[in-house]
Amino acid sequence: MLTSKNVSGGVDLLHDPTLNKGTAFTEEERDKLALRGLLPPRIFTGEEQSKRILENFHNKTNDLEKYIYMVALQDRNETLFYRTVIDNIEEIMPIIYTPVVGKACQLFGHIWRRPRGLYLTINDKGCIADVLRNWPMKKVGIIVVTDGERILGLGDLGANGMGIPIGKLALYTVCAGVHPSLCLPITIDVGTNNEELLKDPLYIGLLRNRIRGDEYDELIDEVVWAVQDVFPGALIQFEDFSNFNAFRLLRKYQKKVCTFNDDIQGTASVTLAGIYSALRITDQKLTDQKILFQGAGEAGVGIANLIVSAMEAEGMSHDKAKRQCWLVDSKGLVVKSRENLQNHKLAYAHDHELVPDLLSAVETLKPTILVGVSGQPQTFTQPIVEAVGEINEQPVIFALSNPTSKAECTAEQAYSWTNGRAIFASGSPFKPVTLDGKTYIPGQGNNAYVFPGVGLGAIECGTKHVTDEMFFAAAKALANEVTEDDLVSGCIYPPLTQIRDVSAVIAAAVAGVAYERGLATVERPDNLLEYMKSRQYEPNYESYV
Ligand code: NAD
Repeated sequence: MLTSKNVSGGVDLLHDPTLNKGTAFTEEERDKLALRGLLPPRIFTGEEQSKRILENFHNKTNDLEKYIYMVALQDRNETLFYRTVIDNIEEIMPIIYTPVVGKACQLFGHIWRRPRGLYLTINDKGCIADVLRNWPMKKVGIIVVTDGERILGLGDLGANGMGIPIGKLALYTVCAGVHPSLCLPITIDVGTNNEELLKDPLYIGLLRNRIRGDEYDELIDEVVWAVQDVFPGALIQFEDFSNFNAFRLLRKYQKKVCTFNDDIQGTASVTLAGIYSALRITDQKLTDQKILFQGAGEAGVGIANLIVSAMEAEGMSHDKAKRQCWLVDSKGLVVKSRENLQNHKLAYAHDHELVPDLLSAVETLKPTILVGVSGQPQTFTQPIVEAVGEINEQPVIFALSNPTSKAECTAEQAYSWTNGRAIFASGSPFKPVTLDGKTYIPGQGNNAYVFPGVGLGAIECGTKHVTDEMFFAAAKALANEVTEDDLVSGCIYPPLTQIRDVSAVIAAAVAGVAYERGLATVERPDNLLEYMKSRQYEPNYESYV
C-alpha cells in the first residue's frame, strides 16, 4: 500500500499519474501524505471530477484539442482518464484512437507535451536491452510497437507514429481491462522517407531516411530478443509496419515468441465476425460467398487468409476456398499472369484474364461481399456500389480504410446508392443514417473489438504464441455476442458500451485455444470467462490510508 514513507513528499504524489487523485484526496490522506495546502480545500468524488472533465472536453473547439486534453489528463491522473473514457466510450474512443489519432500523429511534433512510451532508434543498436531497462515498470504484459512506416492509411509518419502504440494500449485498458502498468508503447525510429516531416523544424524523430535491409532486420531482431530478456513472456503486437516488413516479420517471429500483427490478424478477425453477422441477416452460408477486396495489403490478404480458414472449417477445400477470395490492387485485379506480384499476393493470384479496375472486377466476378482496404478514399463510386447492389439483394459493403477521410465510401452513400439494402461497416465510425424515415446503424469494424480481448486472454494464460486459430476463435466469439436486436437495425457488431464484457468472452476463447493446444503456461482456472472478468482492471480510486 502507498504510504507517506514510499512517496517523497506530497508534490511528487500529485505529479505521479498512476497514483494521483487530484481533488479527490480525502482529508485523512491529505494529512498523512503531506498534501494539506497543496490542493484546494473542497474534496470532490471521482464522479464529480469526471463531470468537470467532460465539461472541458465539450468546450474544446475541435477534435485535435479534445485529443490533447485527454492525453494531458492521462498524463496527470490515469484513474480519472480511464474512468471517464470507459463511461463515455462511444464519444471519447474516436478521439483517443481512430480517426482523430491520425491527425494527432501527423502533427505529433507540434502538439508534443510530455514523453510517453519508449523510443528505440537505430543509434541504440547494440544496447537495446539497456534502453528497455530504463522503462520504470519491471513487469510488462503487452508491448505495441511500430516503426511508423504505414500509420493508418496515412503513410510514413516516422517517429510521429508513437500516437498509435499509445492509443492502442489505452484501448487494451479501456476495452479489455488490461492494467495500464502492464502496457508499454514502443516506437522504433529507423528514419523516415517523408520529406515534409524531415523539413519540419518541429519533427521529433531522427533526421534521416529509413534504413533498410540487414541493418533494419538486425535492429528488429535485437528488439524482439531483448524483450524476451528484459520482459520475459510479454506479448509483442506489431502495428502499422509497411506490408513489405509486416508479413515477413510475422512469419519470422510468430512461432518463436508471443506476438501477432493486428493489421493482418486482428483486422481479419473483426472482419470475419462482421461477415458472420451479415450472413445471419442474409441467411446465407459463408462458403457461398465470393469476396472482392479493394486493396491487397496487410488487411486484404490477412482477411482473405482467415476467411479461407473459416471456409475450410465448414468443409470446403483450401484451393476452392482461396478461389472465393479476389483482390484488386492499384494495378487492377490480382491475377496469375501479372508480373512482379509481391509475395503476399501470390496465393490469390488466380488464373483469370487481366481486369483493369474495380468496376470491371465487380461486373466480371459478381461478388457477394465488397471489402475496401486500400487506403484510397471514395473509390467505391456510385456505379460500383450500384453494380454490387444489382447483383445482391442485400449487398455486404465494408469500407474499412482509416481514418474517416480515407473510407472507400460513406455510410450514407452505401445506403442511398442501394436504396437502404446494403449491410455496411466502416473502419472509422459513421453516424446513423436516416433514409425515407428508416434509420440504419452502420457497423464499425473496429479492431478494438478484437485485439484487447486477444491480449487479455494471451497474457492471463501466459500463452507461448498467438496463433491464427486464436483469431478464428475470437471472430466466432465476437459474432456470437451480436444479438438479434442488433441485427434488426443492421448493426453487425455489439454496441461499444458492451466492449468490456465482449473482450472477456474473447479472452476466454483465446485462452481456451491456448490450453487446448498446450501453449498456456499458467494453470487453467476452473471457469475461464469468470477468471478473465475477475482480472479486468477497474479504474476506481484506492484508499491510501
Ligand atoms: P497496405 O499498405 O498493406 O495495403 C494497401 C493496399 O491497397 C495495397 O495492396 C495497395 O496496392 C492497394 N491500393 C493502393 N491504391 C489502390 C487503388 N487505387 N486501388 C486498389 N488498391 C489500391 O495497408 P493495409 O494495412 O492493408 O491497410 C489498408 C487500409 O485499411 C488502411 O487505410 C487502414 O487504415 C485500413 N484498415 C482498417 C482496419 C479496420 O477498420 N478494422 C484494419 C486494418 C486496416
